[in-house]
Amino acid sequence: MREIFMPPAGKRQMLVSALLDWYGANGRHLPWRMRDGGHPDPYHVLLSEIMLQQTTVTAVIPYYQAFLARWPDVCALASGRDEDVMQAWAGLGYYARARNLLRAAREICNNHDGRFPATACELGTLPGIGPYTAAAVAAIAFGEAILPVDANIARVSARLLEFSEPLPRGLEKLRKLAQGICPEENAGDFCQAMMDLGAMVCTPRHPGCGECPIQTFCKAGKSGNAEAFPVKSLKKQRPVEHGVFYVLEDGSGQMAVRRRPPHGIWGGLLEIPSSGWRGAHALPQNFEACAEWEDAENFRHVFTHFTLEMEWRRGVLLSQEMGPPDVRFLPWQEVVRAGVPSPIAKGLRRMMGK
Ligand code: SF4
Repeated sequence: MREIFMPPAGKRQMLVSALLDWYGANGRHLPWRMRDGGHPDPYHVLLSEIMLQQTTVTAVIPYYQAFLARWPDVCALASGRDEDVMQAWAGLGYYARARNLLRAAREICNNHDGRFPATACELGTLPGIGPYTAAAVAAIAFGEAILPVDANIARVSARLLEFSEPLPRGLEKLRKLAQGICPEENAGDFCQAMMDLGAMVCTPRHPGCGECPIQTFCKAGKSGNAEAFPVKSLKKQRPVEHGVFYVLEDGSGQMAVRRRPPHGIWGGLLEIPSSGWRGAHALPQNFEACAEWEDAENFRHVFTHFTLEMEWRRGVLLSQEMGPPDVRFLPWQEVVRAGVPSPIAKGLRRMMGK
């Protein structure tokens, strides 16, 4: 793995400010949050964080409100009957979470006078509370400068740093690196801002880098490579294929294109000839002999089921008589506008310097 450079302190501060400004204007209004700079009740944070594991925000909100109405503080919950709590949890699934919640509440009530420990380290010693939940409660409810690295924060951090070690194997290392971005002040808001950015902008597919408040600090956002991160562990890693893409020009500002068959990858779209990967169709006869080819900039594109290393070559037709069959020549701009697949459009724009 190549070395990872953290942004220098000044830039980190700018990143934090940009993200917090965005969060102030765009962050989600959720019933367990305080949006005026204060810290929410740790019981509210604990309840919401445990419910949110494996479950969507939309599904959690009515359960969260029902729990608070019935058990308004941690000691009320601790004195609840197991069967009542499990029944109230019904429909949320993953019932071990409800049991963990009860164990933690009873420990806090019985052995800590109903007061939550205020650090991730102490919270992590309570039964039923894992490292992630401990960090979330410590940061959001007590302002400790610790980043709870959930799936959203892992994704944003991996992209920010172009962290190329596969996850989850490299998660501990990523956690330590990401911790270096977490500010000493406003840590709770910063964590929630990272969570919201991951849920709303830096999504697993089609991240909105163009509208992202921290794009100027983000390595993957700047290189246009966001979807390649986080890299998945080998077990789940996509196979990598290698394809060669040919930009054949006719010497008058036009390039060779052809129409793909209606079905399969990029069905029915215009393409430039390519070879060597699962979506490639046979090259026209004598195609490679009709020009002298130069290498151009390569890049990778991530499909759902595989990653495509795209090798680009560019050449000018040696003579009009050598024009290959099955292709037609169109002006560059027209090709890009005609709705070629986005990785091909991206490669062509790079060649045009746009
Ligand atoms: S620039 Fe793109 S990849 Fe980077 S954090 Fe923003 S949305 Fe994510």
